[in-house]
Amino acid sequence: MTLTIDDTHRADLASWVSSAQSPSSDFPIQNLPLGIFRAANRSDRPGVAIGDQILDLVAVAEQGLLDDDDLSALIHECEREGSLNALLAEGRLTLRALRARASALLRNDGEPGRAAERLRVAILVSMTEAEMLIPSRVGDYTDFYASIHHATNVGSMFRPDNALLPNYKWVPIGYHGRASSLVASGTRVKRPSGQTRDDGADAPTFGPTRRLDYELEVGAFIGAGNALGHPVAIADAESHLAGLCLVNDWSARDIQAWEYQPLGPFLAKNFATTVSPWLVTLDALAPFRAPAYSRPTGDPAPLPYLHDDANQRAGAFAITLEVSLSSARMRDEGMAPMRVSLGSFTSMYWTVAQLLAHHSSNGCNLEPGDLLASGTVSGETKDSRGCLLERTWRGSEPLTLPTGEVRRFLEDDDEVIMRGWCERDGFRRIGFGDCRGIVGA
Ligand code: MN
Repeated sequence: MTLTIDDTHRADLASWVSSAQSPSSDFPIQNLPLGIFRAANRSDRPGVAIGDQILDLVAVAEQGLLDDDDLSALIHECEREGSLNALLAEGRLTLRALRARASALLRNDGEPGRAAERLRVAILVSMTEAEMLIPSRVGDYTDFYASIHHATNVGSMFRPDNALLPNYKWVPIGYHGRASSLVASGTRVKRPSGQTRDDGADAPTFGPTRRLDYELEVGAFIGAGNALGHPVAIADAESHLAGLCLVNDWSARDIQAWEYQPLGPFLAKNFATTVSPWLVTLDALAPFRAPAYSRPTGDPAPLPYLHDDANQRAGAFAITLEVSLSSARMRDEGMAPMRVSLGSFTSMYWTVAQLLAHHSSNGCNLEPGDLLASGTVSGETKDSRGCLLERTWRGSEPLTLPTGEVRRFLEDDDEVIMRGWCERDGFRRIGFGDCRGIVGA
């Protein structure tokens, strides 16, 4: 089911939406990610990204172009709820059917495409005229810690003699995050206040964080759920996975350092988490699968409930991930954002299927639209570290911006921009769209 490459992936497919042909577009006809958008004179509703346009799925259904009563009913339910949950709950095959239909309607050859093009004014909305919301109504949000490079780097700063804890190579470590403070890309993020204790001080003080950071992560939306008490087998895990997005897990390092023992992150993390607008389906990602992390000799094999041959062969996703930063001064002076890291999602120690199987292994029920995040994606090299804590080594190796400004952690009015994309010979490049946020006062 996972690795099916079909007609919708063909590199020679072209769309009558001309902007989708631009090689730099994140949204060629081979991608077709799903989102919820808000635009004038329309209810909040599901759409598909194509070039610089959004295919309005409600309008498509109303124009009789879907050619599938079940899909039409689901699209209308998503519109009523302002979320993709109803569609995600149906599982992978329904998402695949919708993808096939959207592909046919957007192609520049064939009768469905010609019929859709004649109705283009009714069914397309320009991205510049729409606001993107979070794709699903997230009931529960869980954040993992799946990069061994991130875990080792952070561990060595917080616990110099004891960097990687003994459970790391056995247990996909995670914690329950907070769904209520998930925000859409572009939402301003207010600098949180909290308790911090300076090195050597006897008592903590309360005030605005002085060590505000981002964390570059990949998010995974749950499709079909599992019933309470019924774990998902690793071999079946991807049938419960709808698609991926980008996540910025904003973190206050000084609050985190003081509060995290013994129960883990709490207020250092739950003041805001930014989610990118588009759910890139597992089907769109099929050409970009990669082997699971190759564990060095001496590392334990995953326990049987976390081991599956197919998942070891192709359980990872070859997504290139980038973080850029711009200060208010850089924007005032017309400077482009500065890239501060570039890495790959293949560097993760655990696959998304392993995270999902582990999460449900005690019988915990995952529900349609729930969000799992990977944890900070950091690779082996310095320039692939996915947060400032690692990138500046807790502030001891500051970054210099093109204006000469220096950054150890984020300052007010800094903008963090995350991007992700997949490339492979013989296939069209696809991307995730931006995950952005500006730090507020
Ligand atoms: Mn995180």
